[in-house]
Amino acid sequence: MKVDKITISKPLVSEAAIKEVVRVLKSGHISQGEVVGELEKQFARYCGVKYAVAVNSGTAAIHCVLYGVDIKPGDEVITSPFTFVATANPILALGGKVVFADINEIDFCLDPSEVKRKLTNKTKAIFPVDLYGQPADYKHLNLRKGIKIVADACQAIGGSLDGKKVGSLADVSAFSLYATKNIMSAEGGVVTTDSKEIVGRCMMFRNHGQDPQRRYSYVDFGLNYRMTDVLAAIALPQVGRIDKITRERNLRAKRYTKNLSGLPGIILPVIRSNAIHCFHQYTIRVTDKAPISRDQLVIALNKANVFPGIYYPLPLHLHPHFMKMGYKEGDFPVAERIAKEVLSLPVHPAVTLKQIDFVSKVIKVACGEKGKN
Ligand SMILES: *Cc1c(COP(=O)(O)O)cnc(C)c1O
Repeated sequence: MKVDKITISKPLVSEAAIKEVVRVLKSGHISQGEVVGELEKQFARYCGVKYAVAVNSGTAAIHCVLYGVDIKPGDEVITSPFTFVATANPILALGGKVVFADINEIDFCLDPSEVKRKLTNKTKAIFPVDLYGQPADYKHLNLRKGIKIVADACQAIGGSLDGKKVGSLADVSAFSLYATKNIMSAEGGVVTTDSKEIVGRCMMFRNHGQDPQRRYSYVDFGLNYRMTDVLAAIALPQVGRIDKITRERNLRAKRYTKNLSGLPGIILPVIRSNAIHCFHQYTIRVTDKAPISRDQLVIALNKANVFPGIYYPLPLHLHPHFMKMGYKEGDFPVAERIAKEVLSLPVHPAVTLKQIDFVSKVIKVACGEKGKN
């Protein structure tokens, strides 16, 4: 049987968005302007917070939120080693110290009891990552008064915890609008917060540290992290569809879970009972009890024209960049083991249920279950 290539992501740009981009391009105002303002308004409303600030990448959003809570040289920020490098580098850019804590194997997010062990009198912020789109355990991460909770929500727009949307769960949250994310603007990012002080700092940081009232008056360090109206026009129509996108991804996730449950040594994603998972990724674990290794399974899927993803093949602390800071193998055993097991299957809205059944069948056959082609 000839099958279409099934890839891990596919950016969808509606005709409405294309029209809006063309309108902006012809309008004469293409850099940060009204469309960015409207995106911020709608994004804040969606997340249920007072303020949103749009910037030109998720990395910029993370840099802004950490500056927003005043991370300074010597401050310690506790975060997950099982994430993309953009979580950690902005901490270093501000002179802060990256303090990793291990994750739990249920939701792949920071384990509050591990975070607790890393607290010192220099801890300035706890920085969980809502990995794959499930909110971290915010309820138990609020460990000490005075320590800010900052969220790397780059993968988690549409998720929620106890009925509260991601973006409103921390003191300040960073989102990415990169092309592969649940909603996107090719490149882009958004900061959300209820704090007037933090939003003021983020807006200033986005614009060279300039006094918002007085151009060419520089109050503090800052960079150019502004988003353009051209790219905001791509994202804007998607904001109204976030819940629909989340439902479509959950429908596909459910189908995988139904198809794949009971396979020996394969662990399927767990959704915490008080959470809505936005399934940026549907990530299974291929443990050593499975009849096939994770890497062999990737080969079997590739042969069937299916291209899953591995996020992430190695925890941050085992890369040279972080080993230079003294981290070593064995420091975070859960993250180290999980990195060898994870496999993310295509779950985006452009994948059909039929294709999901096909991917599931390939996995079942590879695991030794009998099946017709
Ligand atoms: C995508 C992502 C980022 C960075 O976002 P960019 O828009 O690519 O700069 C940071 N953290 C996590 C967890 C991400 O998935």
